[in-house]
Amino acid sequence: MADFMSRSVIFHLILFLQYLFLYTAEKKRVITTNIRNSKKKSKSARYLIEYIIYAKRGEMLQYRNFPSGDERYPILGFGCMRFPTLTEGSGIDRQRAEEMLDYALEKGVNYFDTAWPYHDGESEPFLGRFLEERKARNRVNIATKLPSWLIRRKEDPMSFFLQQLERLRTDHVDHYLLHSLNSHTWNHLIKVGIFDFLDEIQGRGHAKMVGFSFHDEYSLFREILESYPWDFCQIQYNFLDTDYQAGLRGLKLAASKKIGVVVSEPLRGGCITRQVPPEIMAIWNEGAAYSPAEWALRYVWDDSRIQVVLSGMRTLEEVEENIRIASEVRTGSLGEEDFERYIRVSRFYEQRQKALCSGCRYCMPCTQGVAIPEVLHFLNEACMFRNPEGTADLYHRTIREKKGAQLCISCKVCERSCPQHLPIADLMQEAVEVLG
Ligand code: SF4
Ligand code: SF4
Repeated sequence: MADFMSRSVIFHLILFLQYLFLYTAEKKRVITTNIRNSKKKSKSARYLIEYIIYAKRGEMLQYRNFPSGDERYPILGFGCMRFPTLTEGSGIDRQRAEEMLDYALEKGVNYFDTAWPYHDGESEPFLGRFLEERKARNRVNIATKLPSWLIRRKEDPMSFFLQQLERLRTDHVDHYLLHSLNSHTWNHLIKVGIFDFLDEIQGRGHAKMVGFSFHDEYSLFREILESYPWDFCQIQYNFLDTDYQAGLRGLKLAASKKIGVVVSEPLRGGCITRQVPPEIMAIWNEGAAYSPAEWALRYVWDDSRIQVVLSGMRTLEEVEENIRIASEVRTGSLGEEDFERYIRVSRFYEQRQKALCSGCRYCMPCTQGVAIPEVLHFLNEACMFRNPEGTADLYHRTIREKKGAQLCISCKVCERSCPQHLPIADLMQEAVEVLG
């Protein structure tokens, strides 16, 4: 009996030492900061507790490097734009949101992505206060963004940036992005000397890495990517968007230039997971027993060219599920049959499209300035996911005002150039009815 006991102790000791080695290699910075911040627990007790918790649950977030730095980041980034709210459209439900953030911190999530307009301006101050109260600022990376569409004068970027530091209760931002670049915002930012601003905040150490988030055509993505020594870019990417905006070509280009890639909308704003048609569920169910959300996340995490995937989580359960998946996934673990399944699901959604627009842009420019391919994209989105409200919201925020379908006067000049022979003028009318 005594012999058995001593062998058991030695066995667990070896296991613990193995775990300790792996754990310290994987999460050195998080652990050391935890220990530094811990007043009550000794180092060894802290290691032991974390060993028991993590080993028991089998949870170990995967980490990756940005090409331009040595620091490792968990592949799951916390998107701070969809915190739970007290009632629909009201302020952040602080108690529930803090529970989610506490859980994520405890599990080693250390990339928090916010922006000036999220939660009507409440997200940055909320995150700043939370990190200050938890004394957690030094062990996390804050990513936030310049509201490009609000920039009028040369001095505006610095003015917003200083306000953001104040909101976030910090003296620096780890990842600073030009938010939501498109042809309009990009050209304007160039005019106000945005590169000087980026050089200044990075040169003074107020921003560790600079990048941009993007929502326009691939050609503009390439132009922007090649115009400045960016540390990283943030693109919308998921198994349905491989040919949309920056898409797979953009991902490859960024990787070839050793520019880091952060992915947003891995679930297409929830479209992939809400009201999933039975035909789609049948396809997913042919494979492993994953939820549609898990299939979508596994697709982006399978690609090692992506460093961080942002998930705008709404509930503690979503945080738990995403952390579990981010702990289990391994690069290149999807097989041929899995990729076949993604293609079949994409095709199913595509069949619901209203306009088989190839995005060739031969119809452009429109005589009235309508962004025809973009409008058709939003119309297709609304029909594919039977979700006109959600799609209309993004459409109104991005292109409607200056380039929307309501500007169309049915001159039909564009239709002469469309190789798909699309009834563009009629489709613009339909877009007005569906999207507003
Ligand atoms: S029909 Fe409408 S979308 Fe086409 S060129 Fe004329 S105004 Fe533009
Ligand atoms: S020419 Fe036709 S297919 Fe090409 S982008 Fe315009 S509407 Fe789409």
